[in-house]
Amino acid sequence: MRIGMGYDVHRLTEGRKLILCGVEIPYEKGLLGHSDADVAVHAIMDALLGAAALGDIGRHFPDTDPAYEGISSITLLRRVADLLEEHNYIVENIDATIIAQRPKLRDHMPQMAANVAEALGISPGQVNIKATTEEGLGFTGSGEGIASHAVCLLTSLLDQPDICAYSQDGCPGCGRAIRPGTC
Ligand code: MG
Repeated sequence: MRIGMGYDVHRLTEGRKLILCGVEIPYEKGLLGHSDADVAVHAIMDALLGAAALGDIGRHFPDTDPAYEGISSITLLRRVADLLEEHNYIVENIDATIIAQRPKLRDHMPQMAANVAEALGISPGQVNIKATTEEGLGFTGSGEGIASHAVCLLTSLLDQPDICAYSQDGCPGCGRAIRPGTC
């Protein structure tokens, strides 16, 4: 079992969409960044890469590369899932907290968790997305930006050879596998 943590901040600005965990949230401002600036997915990716000792998103998806300009962070999360699969890791669970004074995010959380789970090939029950304010304090409280924290647990298939009774060829896929046939 391996633990990872991620943290990210993006500035709120006019003229940008607000995208959190792949959900476009109606709001007067959006997050500034090279990609779609999905601060929650960025924290989740850094947690996953950290748990796998694979560096961080700046290493894999540098913001100086035009290829990533405006890209959906959910697309990048799928690439992280591929990296984890290449290194024989499966995701046990993810817990993330978005820190924003406004807007209220509660109604969007089920779709946020579903988007993250779909990108990683895990079940929505393995992903928890929370939100909090900082009581008006600091840069999140003033509405200058949104921050996000994430933690995750990974299991290495190499550490648990008996995790699945099926051979790779006969595997029907299950919630523990990043992709069917890899558990
Ligand atoms: Mg970021």
